[in-house]
Amino acid sequence: MKLFDSHIHLARLPQPLNLARSLHQAGFKYCAVACEPWEWTALDEIWEKAGGEGWLEGCGKAYGIHPMIAAKIACDFDKNMADLRRRLEKDPDAQTGEAGLDKRYEGYEPGGVQEEIFRAQARMAMEFGRDLQIHCVGDYGRVIRILREVGFGAGAGTGVRPDACVKRSRPVFHRFGADAGIVKAGLSLGAIFSIHADSFRKKATREALALIPAENLRFETDADESFVQDANETPQQFAEKLVQTLSETINALP
Ligand SMILES: [Zn+2]
Repeated sequence: MKLFDSHIHLARLPQPLNLARSLHQAGFKYCAVACEPWEWTALDEIWEKAGGEGWLEGCGKAYGIHPMIAAKIACDFDKNMADLRRRLEKDPDAQTGEAGLDKRYEGYEPGGVQEEIFRAQARMAMEFGRDLQIHCVGDYGRVIRILREVGFGAGAGTGVRPDACVKRSRPVFHRFGADAGIVKAGLSLGAIFSIHADSFRKKATREALALIPAENLRFETDADESFVQDANETPQQFAEKLVQTLSETINALP
């Protein structure tokens, strides 16, 4: 079976280069997400080496600013957004994000810094025609409103944006955890729903998953440093664990 992990933090995992080789050998493809400036640089270094070895065929990456870091990087907002723009320009296949809102971190309030940084990235995703990896812990309704405000969903159903020849951006709801109303609103914007083991926890989310057409579904591990349980694990063992976790998530969908 061909496995694709739509959200993994490769640069935050132990021995990422060796892991990239083991994942390649296991036939495990992925979108590697880098969600703060140090992680962008680390991912680029891995990408250059692993790409040269041929281990990244079928894989992609995403650059963004996570809401957990939004308040901390706000003082360097212009510099970081310029850096993000440069990386997206350099890789025409890179996605934007992860970006979004998280009630556990500073700047979550309406009109706060999380919203400002999320909106800027949503606009950039639209401008470049890139999918936008969205993190939301809290108000999905506010995320949907912001997406509409910046123009997601314009031209929905036609597959063509009215104002450009670039690809149409799709919201990618990473680690999806909302209900049927958000599934319907998201589908009207052409959204992708990325399913994580946690997506089955809430009854309302489990029920909502049945409304998502197969072509709008993806699966993910969201593996990062918190995924590491045994420091002695080899990259090969770690890759096997990722294969198993992702397979279980895919098989959990009724
Ligand atoms: Zn993530």
